[in-house]
Amino acid sequence: MLGLMQDQPLLISSLIEFASRQHGDTDIVSRRVEGDIHRTTWRAVASRSRQVANAIEADYLAFSERVATLAWNGYRHLELYYGVSGSGRVLHTINPRLHPDQIAWIVNHAEDRILCFDLTFLPIVQAMHAQCPTVGRWVALCDADALPADTGIPDLVSYEAWIADHGATYDWPEFDENTASSLCYTSGTTGNPKGVVYSHRSTLLHAYAVSLPDAMCLSARDTVLPVVPMFHVNAWGLPYSCALTGAKLVLPGPALDGASIYELIESEQVTFAGGVPTIWQTLLDHLHGHWLKFSSLRRTVIGGSACPPAMIDAFQTEFDVEVLHAWGMTELSPLGTICTLKSHQLDLPAHEQATLRAKQGRAIFGIDMGILDEEGRALPWDGKTGGELVVRGPWVAKDYFDSEAGSPLVRDAQGREWFPTGDVATIDVDGFMQITDRSKDLVKSGGEWISSIDIENIAVAHPDISLAACIGIPHPKWDERPIVVAVRRPGSVVSREDLLAFYAGKTAKWQIPDDVVFLDTIPLGATGKVMKGKLREQLKDYRLP
Ligand code: AMP
Repeated sequence: MLGLMQDQPLLISSLIEFASRQHGDTDIVSRRVEGDIHRTTWRAVASRSRQVANAIEADYLAFSERVATLAWNGYRHLELYYGVSGSGRVLHTINPRLHPDQIAWIVNHAEDRILCFDLTFLPIVQAMHAQCPTVGRWVALCDADALPADTGIPDLVSYEAWIADHGATYDWPEFDENTASSLCYTSGTTGNPKGVVYSHRSTLLHAYAVSLPDAMCLSARDTVLPVVPMFHVNAWGLPYSCALTGAKLVLPGPALDGASIYELIESEQVTFAGGVPTIWQTLLDHLHGHWLKFSSLRRTVIGGSACPPAMIDAFQTEFDVEVLHAWGMTELSPLGTICTLKSHQLDLPAHEQATLRAKQGRAIFGIDMGILDEEGRALPWDGKTGGELVVRGPWVAKDYFDSEAGSPLVRDAQGREWFPTGDVATIDVDGFMQITDRSKDLVKSGGEWISSIDIENIAVAHPDISLAACIGIPHPKWDERPIVVAVRRPGSVVSREDLLAFYAGKTAKWQIPDDVVFLDTIPLGATGKVMKGKLREQLKDYRLP
């Protein structure tokens, strides 16, 4: 027997229509690339996202074709979130911090048809547009009169001119909730980036879960500032959860320095903010440097890399802001765990609570997690035994977009399929997970990944280098910075400066290693792979210059 409840697909368009109807007057505030503060409402965003949908229809995009963005957090980006996905097309958010060649590769792999970009990123688009034959329309996210002349980009149109010709009446189509809604590439250990394809269903379920009291606890009484970018895992789902709860949304645009973020928090009376530790460090430095306090901020979610206990302590004891330490991945939409205490833990002494809060937290409903040994056997939840963290659930990826590598899922000893996170973790008796190590070799700098393979490939392309390995070295500001360990070819005298200069133009500037360490040999494993664990051990006393 089937249930007798109405069969309504979970679609992203329903979020924006709900926000428009129930919270139409609630503000959406953006700091624009132009520098000014722009104010709109959920109702107006809904109306303009329908104009976006009409503009896409007029460009003859087929169902599920991709519309890409290279954009900061702002209201036009938000309109694209809803207009593109709501119309049945796929929103492809691209990380503008990648090298133009990497961006071109991603655009071609995704076969993007339209690419919308903030004017900040005009130089990137100028550098790569000629390599992107699938893109038929380039849209600059600006007013018609702000469109620069002579850009060299064919048929470039301003966003405002693009949507102005189209009405705000549009019947959002109904379709299968498992339809693809958005696409985000993550840097892989095996060379090229991999596309994670979210569905309408996964996005809505994730939006519900994120909003729960023991997760981010969002409501119509909140003013939410996602400092985490909308180009990376949908800003942790906040643009969707805010529509679902009717929260006021504050979007920081390109100004991510401590002073600008603080000014926005105070002027808009932000109650909840989300970001990576490096961003919050600049905010804390600003507060300390100017003897400032928060007048409205109550909670902040911090994740993307491990949040240092000192940061949790500073927010809580000095500024009376609760830190929610969270863990997630692009492949998890991204939220997997979040650290909120259980009632019996509230009576624990302060130092024990601090130890708990430094953990990445408990799984939210929808995420099943475990730790496995090398044979796929489940390891005990004793807070001590470490194993590979595996997850499964309705907003966890089962495969990558158009990937030749095959499904990433692994089977446990019982034959159940899991997504292997590449993280090594412990889980305690209360279900609190703690990342102890990263089994992947990617370097995370300022919340952004640097593929060690890319760095190694460039080094070994130098005629005087025979072998290279890139590893991350802890850095007080950026979490980690890459260095390259290299073996010179016999007889060669290539210097540190020569090799660093060789990187110029081959990868984004911030991805260039901070240093070169020359060794006579690099430890190799049985299959000829560099043993990075051993290498790190060998360089444990190394300090960045
Ligand atoms: P990404 O897909 O770029 O969001 O990166 C996901 C990876 O970031 C995870 O697999 C972890 O290695 C790391 N990560 C995310 N959140 C945390 C956290 N709170 N603590 C430690 N590592 C984290």
